[in-house]
Amino acid sequence: MKLITPIVNPDLPTFGDLEKDIQSILNSKQITKGRYLQKLERAIARYLGLPHAVCVSSCTLGLMLVIQCLDLHGEIIVPDFTFIATLEAVLWNGLTPVIVDVDPDSFTIDPQKVEAAITPRTAAILAVHLFGNPANCAALQKIARRHTIKLIFDSAHAFGARIDDRCIGNFGDAEVFSMSPTKLLIAGEGGVITTRDTHLAEKLMRARDYGGRGNGEYDILGLNARLTEYNALLGLKSLRRIKKAVAHRNKVARAYIHNLSTIPGLSFQYIPDAYISAYKDFSILVDESLFGLSRDDLQKELLKKKIETRRYFDPPLHAQPIVKKSSFRAHDVSISQNIASNILQLPMWSTLDLKIVHTICYTIKSIHQKHQR
Ligand SMILES: *Cc1c(COP(=O)(O)O)cnc(C)c1O
Repeated sequence: MKLITPIVNPDLPTFGDLEKDIQSILNSKQITKGRYLQKLERAIARYLGLPHAVCVSSCTLGLMLVIQCLDLHGEIIVPDFTFIATLEAVLWNGLTPVIVDVDPDSFTIDPQKVEAAITPRTAAILAVHLFGNPANCAALQKIARRHTIKLIFDSAHAFGARIDDRCIGNFGDAEVFSMSPTKLLIAGEGGVITTRDTHLAEKLMRARDYGGRGNGEYDILGLNARLTEYNALLGLKSLRRIKKAVAHRNKVARAYIHNLSTIPGLSFQYIPDAYISAYKDFSILVDESLFGLSRDDLQKELLKKKIETRRYFDPPLHAQPIVKKSSFRAHDVSISQNIASNILQLPMWSTLDLKIVHTICYTIKSIHQKHQR
C-alpha cells in the first residue's frame, strides 16, 4: 500500500543536532527562563530587524497578552476568514469581536470593510496574514492612525513573509507569530510577539510570567505563558533554516500554479507583486461548474489517491458554535463564506519534493478529465 502524502511534514532537526544543547540545558538546571530563551529572542529580533521579540508558549496566549497589555476595551475588528484562535484571544479578554469580510483575491481582511465597521467603541483591528500572504498593512495602518485605534496582526502563518524588504513583524503596534508544528518556524509549541514599543515589550515580558513587578506585587493581569528552554532550542534550530524554507515554499507554489492554472475552474490566492508570502499553505479555489467536481468531492477523490488535503477555514468564524454563543457583531461576510465553501489546501512543507508536486497536479488533472461533462 502506498503511503499517504501528508498535508504538512514538519522540518525538524535530528537528535544528534540537539544532543549537546540538551545536555547543556540540563547541566545548567535552568530549564525555563534561561539562556536559550534569550538567545532565541535576540536571534528573532535580529532576523526581523526589530528591537523586541518576546517569546511565549503559544501564539494564542501571545495574542491574549497583547490585547491585555494594550489595555483594550470595547470592540475589536477581525476578519471572518481565519483560524478560531484569532477570535478566541478576543473573547478571553471579554471584548466584542466585530467580524468583517475579506478581499476575494488575497483572502485577507478588506480595509474598506474595516473602515465601514468602525464605531466609537472600536479599540483595535486584529488582522491576519492569511496562509502567509501579508495583509494590506499600508491601508490598515492608515485607517488605524486616522481613527486612533490599535493595529495588531495575527502573524501565525507569516514568519519569513515580507512586503518589499520589510519583514512581517514590523507592522502595527504588535504582531504575534506561532511556532507550532504546522507553521514555518517550529519550536514544538510557542509564539513570538514582536513590537517596536519598548514599554509594551517590557509589560509583555512581565505578563507572560504572571504579571509581577518583581517585588511580590502584581499589577498586570498575567498568566504563565513561558517558553521552555527545550522549545527555545528547537526554535533556534528552525530559525537557521527559515530563509531556505520560505524560498522553497515559493518554488513549490510556483510549480503548483504553473501546472494547475490550465485546468478550468481552479484559481489561486492573489499575492501582490511587492509581497513575498511565507506560503504556510497553498490553496486552490474550486469552481464546481467549471471544474466538474465540488471541492468536497475533489478532496475525497484525492484521498483515494492517498493525497491528504485540508479545508481551512470551513466553517469560518461567523458560523462557529463558540462565536454564536458569544456576544459579537458580523457584517456581510458573503465573500468569506464563498471562499470557505470552495477552498482546498494541497500538501505544502519546507522540503516538499517537486516530483510529488507534479504527481499531485497530474492527479488533479486526471480527476478533472474524468468528471468533465
Ligand atoms: C495556528 C494559528 C494560531 C494559533 O497558534 P498557536 O501557537 O497554536 O496558539 C493563531 N492564528 C492562526 C491564524 C493560526 O493559524
